Amino acid sequence: MTPDVRDRVERPPRLGAAVSPISEATWERALDLIAGADEIALACHVSPDGDALGSMLATGFALRSMGKRVVGSFGDRHFAVPRLLRFLPGQDMLVPPEDYPAAPELMMTFDSPSAERLGLIGPSVAAAREVIVVDHHRSNTGFGTVGLVDPGAAATAMLAEQLIHRLGGTLDRDIATCLYAGLVTDTGSFRHSSTTPAAHEMAARLVATGLRTDEIARELWDRSPFGYLKVLAAALDRVELCDELVWTYVTRVDRAAYGLPYSEVEGIIDIVRRTDEAEVAVVLKEDDEGAWQVSTRSKGTADVGALCAAMGGGGHRNAAGFTSHESVDDTIGAFRRLLGKV
Ligand code: 5GP
Ligand code: MN
Repeated sequence: MTPDVRDRVERPPRLGAAVSPISEATWERALDLIAGADEIALACHVSPDGDALGSMLATGFALRSMGKRVVGSFGDRHFAVPRLLRFLPGQDMLVPPEDYPAAPELMMTFDSPSAERLGLIGPSVAAAREVIVVDHHRSNTGFGTVGLVDPGAAATAMLAEQLIHRLGGTLDRDIATCLYAGLVTDTGSFRHSSTTPAAHEMAARLVATGLRTDEIARELWDRSPFGYLKVLAAALDRVELCDELVWTYVTRVDRAAYGLPYSEVEGIIDIVRRTDEAEVAVVLKEDDEGAWQVSTRSKGTADVGALCAAMGGGGHRNAAGFTSHESVDDTIGAFRRLLGKV
């Protein structure tokens, strides 16, 4: 597919909802800030997933092709791109948090509902002259100076595509790969309720650039080191079902036995949540610092986004998370009280 230039200018890609909450004036303001900046510092949330990193790198490619100097980062203490995202192009744009501009002229954040979710580079938000926030979390705090925020978008990648389109960029293979990774990650391969006609339309535009969707799917979901099976077995061995809540946990000791990095256990929630008897699924994952990163999923009745917000985290209605420094039992206990299933 070679999009006609006129077509691209006159008909921006659809985002999902009939009426976008992002006004034309807000898009204009974002485009003006980008036009006026020589150097742009990009950021996405800690422990980046395909949507966070994919949206950021795709936008980075478009900005670079406009002649901008671009750096991107995420504020993890142990800065490493998760193995399953290493196939994404554009990683030469990335710098570790310690090399990230402390007070950027223009900063752009991706898939992060708050400055805090940027981890170590979060403080650059307050010090930056301007901050364009590209996000689709309903729990977005309204941080930054320009908000390209639409909770109706199935993925931040949809907003990134819209932005790239408005910048006059073309969907080349690199940009399409990054955007596709974001789109399929956040829609769960078009299985989640967030999947709109606009999400499928975007997929069609991306696939038309010649993407090997089979290879991308394999990188994202269908491979892991052997140790993953052992750690998964340990997690499944202690899974519990109580009153429509299914839950388990993975410790850093489990992972250390097989040298498995934290990012490798992020997908366990997708196995646990299949439980027919449960409405809500929870997986507690101990990170390298000893904190519990808690993933929660709902089949639709319970609003885990609201529950996680009450636990100091956030996310979406059916997929959300929070961080806990309490024990597994205390964390599950507190969560169950909120859920009303004590
Ligand atoms: P996951 O369980 O896949 O890590 O995250 C599911 C959703 O919840 C994502 O949208 C993610 O951004 C959000 N989320 C996960 N952990 C946290 C957290 O600690 N704080 C906030 N605000 N959101 C989180
Ligand atoms: Mn997202």
